[in-house]
Amino acid sequence: MTFSSSKIYLSLLGLGLVVAVLAAILGWYRYQETNEALLAVREQADKLSQEVRDLGLKLEQSLAEGSQVAARLEAEEKKNEQFEDQIVGITNVVGDLEKLSQTDPELLKKYSKVYFLSENYMPAQLADIPADYLYDASRQLKANGEIIDFLTDLLEGATEDDIDLKVVSAYRSFGEQSSLKAQYSVNYGSGANAFSADQGYSEHQLGTTVDFTSTSAPAVFAGFDQTEVYKWLTDNAHKYGFVLSYPDNNQYYQFEPWHWRFVGRKLARDLHRDDKYFYNLDQREIDQYLIDLFD
Ligand SMILES: [Zn+2]
Repeated sequence: MTFSSSKIYLSLLGLGLVVAVLAAILGWYRYQETNEALLAVREQADKLSQEVRDLGLKLEQSLAEGSQVAARLEAEEKKNEQFEDQIVGITNVVGDLEKLSQTDPELLKKYSKVYFLSENYMPAQLADIPADYLYDASRQLKANGEIIDFLTDLLEGATEDDIDLKVVSAYRSFGEQSSLKAQYSVNYGSGANAFSADQGYSEHQLGTTVDFTSTSAPAVFAGFDQTEVYKWLTDNAHKYGFVLSYPDNNQYYQFEPWHWRFVGRKLARDLHRDDKYFYNLDQREIDQYLIDLFD
C-alpha cells in the first residue's frame, strides 16, 4: 500500500463513520418521534376507554333508576287496580242489596199449617194471562206481574212442543179463596181440607202459582198426572222457573200434579237436578236464591 492510497482509505473510513453516526442520530430521532406519537395515541385511547367506562356507569345508573321508576309505577298501578276492584266490589254489594230490597221475600217462603201469608197480602202488580192459554176463556185470570213473562214463555214452549197446556186457576185473593173453600166445605164437609187447604191457598195468593190442566185431560184435575201434559211439565217447567209444590207422597200436603209455583229458574233447575222439592229444603237454603229470583 502506498502512502496516498492509505490516506484515501482513512478518509473513506472517516466518511463512513460520519455517515454511520448521522444515520444513528437520525434513527434515534425517528424512534423518539414514533414513540411520542405512540404515547399520544395510547393516551387518547386511555381517555376514550375512561369515557366509555363513565358512560357505561351512567347507563347502568340510568337503567337502575329506570327500573326503580318502573317498579314504583307498577306498584301504583296495582294499588289502582285494587282500588278499582274494591269499588267494583262495593258497587256489586250495593247492586245486590238494591236488587234484594226490590224482591218480595214472600215469593220464596214455605207456607205451612203454622206459617201463613197475611190475609192483606197483595202482589205488587198483577197482569192478565193471555186468553189463548186459559182453560175457560170467559174467566180472565191474573198472575203476579213479575212472573207473567216466565209463565207466558212456559205456555209458548208447551205449544211449540204440541202440548195442550191450559191455565185453570192462578192468582186468588184471600176473599176469593175463602169463598171457594166455603163452597167446597158445603159440598164436601171437613174433607174439603184435603184439596183446598192451607199451603196451596197461600201460594195462589202470591200470584206466582198456577193450576194447569189440558182440554185433552179426562177431567179438570183428576187423572192429570197420567197425561202427556203432566209429563211435559215434569221435564220442562223448571227451565221456566216453575216447580211442583206437592209431589206424590210428600209429607206436607196431598199430591197436586196440576199445582206449579214459580221459584225462579236457578232454584227450579237446582231442585230438578238434585231431584228435590221446594218444601224439602230448609228456608235458609231457599233464601239464598231470592236475589236470583227473576234472573
Ligand atoms: Zn193450586
